[in-house]
Amino acid sequence: MMSPDLDRLIGLQQLDSTIDDARRRIAAHPERVAEAEARLAEARQRVELAKGRLKENHEARRALEKDAAVFQARISKFKDQQAAVKTNREYQAIQHETETAQRDVAAAEEKVLERMMEADGIAAEIKEAEALLAKQEKEVNAEKAALTSELTTVEAALAKATEARASVLANLEPRLLSLFEQVSKVRKGIAICAATRDGLCSVCHVRLRPQVFQQVRQNDGIVQCDTCQRILYYIPPPAPAEGVVTHAP
Ligand SMILES: [Zn+2]
Repeated sequence: MMSPDLDRLIGLQQLDSTIDDARRRIAAHPERVAEAEARLAEARQRVELAKGRLKENHEARRALEKDAAVFQARISKFKDQQAAVKTNREYQAIQHETETAQRDVAAAEEKVLERMMEADGIAAEIKEAEALLAKQEKEVNAEKAALTSELTTVEAALAKATEARASVLANLEPRLLSLFEQVSKVRKGIAICAATRDGLCSVCHVRLRPQVFQQVRQNDGIVQCDTCQRILYYIPPPAPAEGVVTHAP
C-alpha cells in the first residue's frame, strides 16, 4: 500500500537513525572507558592513602619511642648525679628534674600506645580498601571487556548501515533525497515520521489539517507536516484477525 518512495524514505530514516546512534556510541566509548578506569584509580588511591597514613603512624611512633628513651637516659644520669651530691638543696633540685623526666617518659609512652591503637584502625582500613580494590578490579575489567565487545558490534552495525544507505540512495530520486536531507538537517536528523491515528504529527505533536491528514492516510505521495516540515506517512491499525470475535460491552 505504501508508495515505493515513502518506503525508501522510511528505510533511509531508519538507517540514518542507526548511523547517528552508532556514531554517538562510538564517540562516547573513550569516555566510558576512562570513567571505569577513574573508578579503579580512585580505589587504588584509597589503598595508597591508607598505607601512607600507616607509614606516618609508624614514623611518629618511632620518634616517640626515641623521645622516651632520651628521657629514660636522663633519669639514669640524674640517679648517678644524685649519688654524688653534697647538699640537700642539690639533691632536691635533681629530684625535681627526675620527676619531670618521669612525667615526660609517661607522656611519651601514652602517646606510643595511642599510636599503636590508631595503627590497628588504619590496618583494618587498608584491608577493607584492598578488598574493595580487588572487587573494583574485577568489575572494571569485566566492564571494559563488555565495552570493547559493544564497540565492535556498534562498528559493524555502522558499517552495515552505511553500506545499506548507499544502496537506498542509488534507487532514490535526487529531488526526494535533497528534500529529505534538507528537512533532516534542520529537524535534528528526523526527516520523516508517522502521523498518529488521531491525526497528529508524531514528532511535533501538532494536529494536521483534516485535508492534509486525509492525504497522508493514502500513503501514496510526499506530504509534509505544515508545522515541522517533516514528511509524513500513516500506519493503519492492524486488521482484525480472522476468526476472532470481539464482544461488544
Ligand atoms: Zn510535525
